[in-house]
Amino acid sequence: SLSDRLGGVFDRLRGRGALTEADVRAAMREVRVALLEADVALPVARQFVDAATEKAIGQNVLRSVTPGQQVVKIVNDALVELLGGSAGEEEAQLHLAVTPPAVVMMVGLQGSGKTTTTAKIARRLKTRENKKVLMASLDVNRPAAQEQLATLGTQVDVATLPIVAGQQPVEIARRALQSAKLQGYDVLMLDTAGRLHVDQALMDEMKAVADVATPQEILLVVDSLTGQDAVNVATNFSEQVPLTGVVLTRMDGDARGGAALSMRAVTGKPIKFAGTGEKMDALEAFHPGRVAGRILGMGDVVSLVERAAEAVQQEDAERMASRLAKGQFDMDDLRAQLGQMRRMGGLGALAGMIPGMKKAQAAMNSGAIDERILLRMDAMITSMTQKERAKPELINAKRKIRIAKGSGTTVQDVNKLLKMHQEMANAMKRIKKMGGLKGMMAMLG
Ligand code: GDP
Ligand code: MG
Repeated sequence: SLSDRLGGVFDRLRGRGALTEADVRAAMREVRVALLEADVALPVARQFVDAATEKAIGQNVLRSVTPGQQVVKIVNDALVELLGGSAGEEEAQLHLAVTPPAVVMMVGLQGSGKTTTTAKIARRLKTRENKKVLMASLDVNRPAAQEQLATLGTQVDVATLPIVAGQQPVEIARRALQSAKLQGYDVLMLDTAGRLHVDQALMDEMKAVADVATPQEILLVVDSLTGQDAVNVATNFSEQVPLTGVVLTRMDGDARGGAALSMRAVTGKPIKFAGTGEKMDALEAFHPGRVAGRILGMGDVVSLVERAAEAVQQEDAERMASRLAKGQFDMDDLRAQLGQMRRMGGLGALAGMIPGMKKAQAAMNSGAIDERILLRMDAMITSMTQKERAKPELINAKRKIRIAKGSGTTVQDVNKLLKMHQEMANAMKRIKKMGGLKGMMAMLG
């Protein structure tokens, strides 16, 4: 696995101060091989390795992990990001908030799993969101394709548009939309025809249907087992049809995750679901973290990464202690504390020692500060420049507006954050006057 490869490369580097460019490049060669083995498209692998290299060079080596482990964490985080994930591992959603009916159009090659996935998504919308769903098959090429959808509809108890022989896809789409409107459906799912290969007639048909149906979602269905082919298909479709997302089917097979990585990079669109079997409930929200793990060779990687993350927290705490001793406390310190509060459910390592923090913590335990607010604070600090973080007194009215805009918050929110920081910075100065953290501990006995 990748972690084995990296372990070998990095064993001799233990104890150095920072990851050098040569170290990182050696490691990234192994990463590149691992990605290609996982079936990631070559240009995507190249691009990824370049980005990860840039991130890794110059990072301080943590004392409690080997440089190899640290690179695994950097690569893992970069993979998750490339797969469309975030720290909170949010799942991509369907955007169906329009005057009903919302239209979801499924496109892709023949045999990729469009019809199956149409019924799976319809079932999911019905059972989880209580939506009234109508499905229509526009596949007039394959014999009995429309009947196939009707059969699945009966199976999952979702309505299908009555079949009218001889109608063409655009006509069927028009009729489906009409029926969905008249009969008060929330969602209309359009299952389209595929071809064995991408051809212009297919693309023209997709475009004509999309013009008539104006879908909120156009989901490209791709078979994750087809590897490099899947990448070509995705490139072709995304150039011609305004896709909103991707569904990867057959993730239950021995797909090595490479298709997922390439897919996201090539289409620029989120992977919204993963098909994990032939049964109607075998559809999952897509989890970037899990797929990243699969590409990295999983197993021990998760624990490695967790250990690395713990070490990062420890470094944070040590940095904090040394700054406390000097009576300093800037926005980056505040962010480190907020991060700890979030991870530990309100109980940061140093929180108890800092008066301002205690108040915030009490508010959090009483429910007044929840996870959402902590994430918002983090977003505000992210929107600050480095100078502003080091010297929050620079943040004037104009800067407040910019920070609020950048973080999707209000100037009032920014003011609250600044006030909180000010209280904590003051507390820090008082601690310094009392002889620093050590003196305070001594006083507390
Ligand atoms: P379409 O031509 O794109 O409409 O593809 P179909 O929906 O007819 O699917 C073709 C075959 O793939 C069927 O036998 C499905 O049961 C199967 N299939 C679809 N999705 C999955 C999946 O996620 N896992 C597995 N194992 N089989 C799937
Ligand atoms: Mg079909």
